[in-house]
Amino acid sequence: HVPLVVTDFLDRAVQLYGEKTAVIDGDRRLTYKEMNGRVQQLSRGLKSLGIQKDDKVAYLAPNTLEMLEGFYGVFQTGGVMTPLNTRLKPADYIFILNHSESQVLFVDLSLYDQLKQIKDHLETVHTIIVHGMADDANGDFSYEKWLGQFDDGPFDREPLEETDIASLLYTSGTTGDPKGVMLSHRSNYLHALSTMHHLGVSDRDTLLHVLPMFHVNGWGSPFYYTANGATQVMQREMDPALILENIHKEKVTVAHMAPTVLNMIMEQNAHNKEPLKLEQDMRVVIAGSAPPVAFVKRTEEELGWKFIQVYGMTEISPLITTSQIRSEHLDKSTDEQYTLKAKVGYSMIGSSVRVVNELDEDVPWDGKTIGEIITRSNNVMEGYWKNPDATSTTIKNGYLYTGDMANVDSEGYINIVDRKKDVIISGGENISSLEVESCLYDHPAVLEVAVVSVPHEKWGEVPHAHVVLREKGGATEEELIAFAQEKMARFKAPKGITFLEELPKTASGKIQKVQLRQPFWQDRS
Ligand code: ATP
Ligand code: MG
Repeated sequence: HVPLVVTDFLDRAVQLYGEKTAVIDGDRRLTYKEMNGRVQQLSRGLKSLGIQKDDKVAYLAPNTLEMLEGFYGVFQTGGVMTPLNTRLKPADYIFILNHSESQVLFVDLSLYDQLKQIKDHLETVHTIIVHGMADDANGDFSYEKWLGQFDDGPFDREPLEETDIASLLYTSGTTGDPKGVMLSHRSNYLHALSTMHHLGVSDRDTLLHVLPMFHVNGWGSPFYYTANGATQVMQREMDPALILENIHKEKVTVAHMAPTVLNMIMEQNAHNKEPLKLEQDMRVVIAGSAPPVAFVKRTEEELGWKFIQVYGMTEISPLITTSQIRSEHLDKSTDEQYTLKAKVGYSMIGSSVRVVNELDEDVPWDGKTIGEIITRSNNVMEGYWKNPDATSTTIKNGYLYTGDMANVDSEGYINIVDRKKDVIISGGENISSLEVESCLYDHPAVLEVAVVSVPHEKWGEVPHAHVVLREKGGATEEELIAFAQEKMARFKAPKGITFLEELPKTASGKIQKVQLRQPFWQDRS
């Protein structure tokens, strides 16, 4: 057999689309041929630093041209790409760099100051190369100068098996410490084939990388956009005005983002009464957390963008479901279709997805009965790096257990109810924190909300809401609680509200409920 190795994707693009723009990063543009030349230089450079098969090469950078060429430059040497989340604290960088045993570290100039402070604590990193730095300094290399020494002719690639590891990605740390997920070339490859089909990716696409590429949701996409010869535009900052500017300027056709970022864009656009006018059709791929139905409606009606939701996790490369309306359901009303799109949908090709009870039996498709999402999939990781115990509790009997609780409607669309860890168990009833949130989102004063369980003497746990208001003083605690009590079963309504200026979030824009929950449970544990 021919091993499924992700470097194939760049080869195809160079052969068919050599003169086409591969990447745009601010004022910088490279064709596929130009990028490929730099990739060959990068591989040679890494080899000269001793990088061999299975060696870890770390990246600490926002979405940049250098990060994209890094993918293929590293893979050609057999090295494992290990991206770091740029919003972590220096102590986390030390942990991940040492835990992953990274040898070479590429860092963007914007993050170099932070890195300098921790250099002495790095046990395995022997070379640091700085993107965007004009000259060598502090014993570290300037990327362009370093790269410029190496020949750009075809690099003699390391022969690889498809089960060799391509990426070592740390999870978001939404529920605790990040875990290192080992993804093989085969998983990355088959995930790309499946996802490009479901998202309808083609050579006519211009992708705006809004999701950070260092996180798995952004990580998967360079593979399938490169393979199709699409143009990739780098979005360095999560600023809604800059995102809209890039969409206009580069005639972007597709962007992947978290609902929180889409929310910011809609706020930014709110003063336009008309749908946003673009010269091109635009679709937005939403990943990472569940959007309320009202979001789907606003995306399609106010922005005029096609809404696609996908679901996954780092451990599965990441995507396994999509909620695009199947043709047999297109005769439903527009509102019914929005409701379907707000669910995570059904399995993508290559992943068999089930929702099961504690005995591993499929729950009935009744839109009510809750079970855990499990999957048997081409995309599943090889395991957690240096953590066999966590691996064996996550992958059992050929299935990966996601820890996400869901029900399935009569048409087979999966609806995430909550994370196992976020369900609120109150007086023996299970309350979905997402359901309470989606109720409060309907209140006009509410911009963002996160509901967590807090201890309660009588009921064990009760829901408590953290709310960011659109305008200061826009609603009181009593008003919001009364609003929820009116709209949903009384026991599900929050018993208290904390108003915040903003919610704690991970780099990909996910709300970190652990942090909100912690103060309430501190003296108990
Ligand atoms: P950690 O595992 O470190 O606690 P994390 O689970 O947030 O962090 P990721 O792998 O980035 O790390 O995220 C996967 C999780 O994101 C899924 O298990 C699920 O809970 C959530 N998720 C992803 N997509 C969606 C979606 N479309 N709707 C709802 N939740 C989603
Ligand atoms: Mg997780």
